Amino acid sequence: MNKVGFYTHPDFEAHEMGPGHPECPERLSSIFRYLEKTQLIKQLQVTAPPLAAVEDFKLAHDATHIDRLEEISHLFDVDVDGYPRSYVQIDPDTAFNPHTWQAVRRSVGAALHATDAVIDGRLEQAFCAVRPPGHHAEHRRAMGFCVVNTVAVAVKHALDVRSIKRVAVIDFDVHHGNGTENILSDDDRVLMVGIFQHPFYPYSGSDSASDNMKNIPIPARTDGKKIRQLISDQWLPALHAHQPEMIFISAGFDAHREDDLGQLGLVEDDYAWITQLICKVAQEHSGGRIVSCLEGGYNLSALARSVHAHLKVLLDFQMNSSFD
Ligand SMILES: [Zn+2]
Repeated sequence: MNKVGFYTHPDFEAHEMGPGHPECPERLSSIFRYLEKTQLIKQLQVTAPPLAAVEDFKLAHDATHIDRLEEISHLFDVDVDGYPRSYVQIDPDTAFNPHTWQAVRRSVGAALHATDAVIDGRLEQAFCAVRPPGHHAEHRRAMGFCVVNTVAVAVKHALDVRSIKRVAVIDFDVHHGNGTENILSDDDRVLMVGIFQHPFYPYSGSDSASDNMKNIPIPARTDGKKIRQLISDQWLPALHAHQPEMIFISAGFDAHREDDLGQLGLVEDDYAWITQLICKVAQEHSGGRIVSCLEGGYNLSALARSVHAHLKVLLDFQMNSSFD
């Protein structure tokens, strides 16, 4: 019996950043509806995550920065101007509503709980269907729809608290994971591999920050065939050389060809292929241990279908079987 965890909670849908914002609660409801329609949800260990302690954020973030974000979360406790505050903008693209901090704590709680469950063998793999996303959040800066770097906190927990020796972070979002790179650069326990559209937001990653970052910047309109080839040629040797004991995925699905926020050409089959490749590496080096966290993905239908493809491969993955 395969044990794939699926972390979800109503708190993730209470965070929203205003009408028309692409990083919207409907992203998650679209995923849930599709997993129910296809009945894949029945095969997953659906888990409600605990709230993370704010102190845990400081594993990956500057303490003063986190304290400032927590202060912002309290602005909603008082009616400063005689009006209820609906939103507090913390970056041109990112805002708090009264429920944001709770959603952030629940998102990181999901990643931490999943990390512990996978290390302890209670789950083989886990997918955290969380909002807000995290991979643009830097050590001292929230940005790009992201408040706290969910994956980076979980990685630091695995390394510093759970004594995992080496991890890989795999980021296939259409945008460069600048926040994760900022936090984990020069930590030789970590190998991060990423592929992203360039030049494109956040306009970083074309020069790898350090030896433990293997970035593949690719131009708009690159298709799935080319992306698969680049991943095989450049990610695989680095992953095999690093021999990660555990793999974290920043799973953004905005490189889908139907997603208007990016201009890359992936489809569901490509996400399945990438997930299979990751599973093979996990099988060889990591005891199958994978924690995957949702990042981007803004076309509601393409997002739901792509998450389904990703989860289907995780479910089909058996430690002692081969995909060949
Ligand atoms: Zn993205």
